[in-house]
Formats: sequence, structure tokens, C-alpha cells
Amino acid sequence: MELIFLGTGAGVPSKERNVSAIALSILEEVNNIWLFDCGEATQHQILHTSIKPRKINKIFITHLHGDHLFGLPGLLSSRSFQGGDSPLTIYGPKGIKQFIDVSLKASGSHLTYPLEIIELSSGILFADSQFEVSCQKLEHGVPSYGFRIKEKDKIGELKVDKLKDIGITPGPIYKKIKEHETIELSDGRIIHRKDFIGPPKKGRVLSILGDTRSTSKNVSFIEDSDVLIHEATFEDEAQEQARKYFHSTTTEAAQLAKDGHVKKLILTHISSRYQKEDLPRLLKEAQAIFPNTTLAEDFSRFNVKYQH
Ligand SMILES: [Zn+2]
Ligand SMILES: [Zn+2]
Repeated sequence: MELIFLGTGAGVPSKERNVSAIALSILEEVNNIWLFDCGEATQHQILHTSIKPRKINKIFITHLHGDHLFGLPGLLSSRSFQGGDSPLTIYGPKGIKQFIDVSLKASGSHLTYPLEIIELSSGILFADSQFEVSCQKLEHGVPSYGFRIKEKDKIGELKVDKLKDIGITPGPIYKKIKEHETIELSDGRIIHRKDFIGPPKKGRVLSILGDTRSTSKNVSFIEDSDVLIHEATFEDEAQEQARKYFHSTTTEAAQLAKDGHVKKLILTHISSRYQKEDLPRLLKEAQAIFPNTTLAEDFSRFNVKYQH
């Protein structure tokens, strides 16, 4: 699981930061990439990475503001042009379907792959054998959502020494033991998996929030995440402005990370009013409250590690 930030700016693109988009690479887990938001020129940003658009099978749009959305029709068309034929699902607030339908129809774009569009309402979006994704409405000028991606817990490691002690040596039988609750050996002995397996490996949890005002309602949604990705449009002293424009400050994001006991906070959606020399100050403001904070740059990459 790797996060690749494609755009970390707010509102309008700048030379340093493009508008919002984050890729979650789960190539190792399920050979797919999920995209969170798709601001203008996201496909240009993708060209500077190893991401293949046809590997993107899910796109999550947090809200319909242009800086999170305007890159979508172009990316959808290019995915088609580049021979993508595998299905794609888009999740977004009410209105996303109309936006896509009109953009594609008016431009005479025909997609070569099946496209499904699902409009959001808070709760579980989907769950499969490996992931469960839920969403919750945040506080913004238009309906804006956060996504919580929960990886299912994995079965623990085999206790090899214990197996060897009873004369079962490594081989295909180990895989069989791991995959079945009970098996019968060729000599008639019955092996119960639970006797030979360590504690389960806890799945990783990732919370990616769209634009939002600071509100205590977000705490339970992001609780205990391994990584929280949160906007920090404003610096600490601009709290009033942040409230007025339905955004958050560096310190509000950090306070949420602290209150929700997350392991790591990554700040994004940084206003272009802040120059390079301001960034260490913004980061320090957040770190004073939540030390394990990082400020994302375009093309920053983060591995989401298992907690031990
Ligand atoms: Zn925005
Ligand atoms: Zn917005």
C-alpha cells in the first residue's frame, strides 16, 4: 500500500502544486490503483509517475469543487484511448453522474470500458475479501466526504517450530494448514489450525478526507487510522478565515489527528498564498500538537506500513 500525491494545492494550481489528487497503489495487494480526487491536469501529473491509467479501477471524488474534479473527463477519455478495457467505478457526491454524462456526451467521447457511477451516502460503500471502504459527510460549502479504507485482518504466521516438533516438515502441507481450519494428515492425525498459528496481522486503516471545516464529528470516523490525510488550507492564525470558507488550519488538522489517536498525519491542500519559506512554519504548527505530521508535496510517496 503506497500513497502517491499527485496534487497538493488548494483551489488553483501553482507551479509548485497542482490541484487535488492522490493515488493509492494497491498493486502488490490486488494489482490495482485507486484515485482520490481528480483535479485538472491529474493525467499530466500521472505522466511523471509509473502509474498506468488502465490499472486505476476505482476513483473516489470527495466533492464537486473544480479543484477536485475538473481532471476527470480527460482522464476517463485517455484511459479509453490507451486501451483500458477493464471496468471502472467512480464514487462521488450527488451530481457526479450528471457531470460525467454531460462532459462525455457533449464532447462526443466514447469509452471502451464499462463505467459504473455510484453517488455517495454516508456508510459502507463496499466490502470485499480484502478491503472495506466507508464514507462520511464532512462540513464544507458543498457536500464533501471523507473515505475510510480498512484492510481486512490477515491470518497470522504459522508456528513452524511447533509443527516441526510433531514431525511435520516444511512443504505444501504448510499452505494447506494455513488455508483450512482443520485438515487430516496422511497418517490420520487431525491438525487444528488454531493450535499452530500466531495472532492475526491487523489490517491497515487509511482515512482520506475531502475539504472540511474542523468539527468534532470527524473524530470517530478517523479514529485509530494508521494514516490520516487531511487538508490544511490555512495557517494557525487564520482560524477565522478557515471557518468562514469551510476549511481547516494546520493546528485543527493536528488536533483531529491527536483526538482520533491516529499513527500518522499527512497534510495536503496547501494554499498557494504560502511560499516555500512558509512551509517549515506550517509544519511546525501542526507538529507542536501532533509530532508525527508530514506535509505532502506533489509526487511525495508514503508506504503505509503494518503496525506491530
Ligand atoms: Zn479544494
Ligand atoms: Zn472544496
